[in-house]
Amino acid sequence: MVNVVVIGSIAFDSIKTPFGSVKKALGGSGVYASIASSFFARTGLVGVIGKDFKQEYLEFLKSKKIDLKGVVKNNEEKTFFWSGEYKFDLNTAITHKTELNAFQNFKPILPEDYKKVDYLFLGNISPKLQLSVLNQMVKKPKLVIADTMNYYIQQNPELVKKVINKVDIGLMNDSEARMLFKTNNLITAGKKILELNSDLAIIKKGEHGAIFLTKKSFFSAPGYPLENVIDPTGAGDCFAGAMLGYLASKNTKSIKEIKKAIIYGSTIASFNAEGFSINNLKKITKKQIQKRFKEFKKISEF
Ligand code: AMP
Repeated sequence: MVNVVVIGSIAFDSIKTPFGSVKKALGGSGVYASIASSFFARTGLVGVIGKDFKQEYLEFLKSKKIDLKGVVKNNEEKTFFWSGEYKFDLNTAITHKTELNAFQNFKPILPEDYKKVDYLFLGNISPKLQLSVLNQMVKKPKLVIADTMNYYIQQNPELVKKVINKVDIGLMNDSEARMLFKTNNLITAGKKILELNSDLAIIKKGEHGAIFLTKKSFFSAPGYPLENVIDPTGAGDCFAGAMLGYLASKNTKSIKEIKKAIIYGSTIASFNAEGFSINNLKKITKKQIQKRFKEFKKISEF
């Protein structure tokens, strides 16, 4: 029985940063988020892979106890492919290529037991698919977080807003929030998320942390003072996956625990940025996670 369901892309990523490059490495919003969530809770992944997907990647996800019965294989098409680059400003990815491939005609179908899950993450997929997943739920989940990205905001901003309207936490990064709400001010953007009937708004600010707004409160989480950022790909997905996994493990959505979840999210995202693709996520231990969580606490106390 899974406690968290993650839906998102399963990808091959070719990434270039000032510190090196990788070709066709395992990536995708669903992959990053489910691995991050799996440190805290039993997680199921929903997505599509293509005919060229490697069995060893599936074995790795299984080794993290990620349930894969929601992953379907399209034997006609290749796996979704994204190539991107980060210049010295590691906060902004420059997309070179997005090949939807198997993702193009993907219609997510939730396994029966996933339809009653309490913690749901709608990762980066088209807002139309995010809504179709929500419509399949037979019981209202306790907490749904929806992420988005510039690709979908440019295509259909109104549909992205419709998704935010239907979930508990609308999550996006700073440049996406500015783009969606046509404002340069992140507090204004956060308030606009709340106006869309989303109870809680979180805006990620890359290496500078995240802000969390409710109608009554404001919280600012610091970024971890990392010196060796190698590849920030997947940071947002790790952040969301770890947050949801932690909240599922505590079975709560109290404001106090959401603040802690944000710090766990930042912790996993910071480890992930210290290596290419999922390389660092493969290595980290629960002990290391706890240690960095405590360091976060220290740097934000005064
Ligand atoms: P993040 O760095 O958290 O924004 O997410 C990076 C991941 O998003 C990469 O692993 C990509 O494979 C994936 N990605 C890039 N473009 C898209 C897209 N249009 N739809 C879904 N996933 C995408």
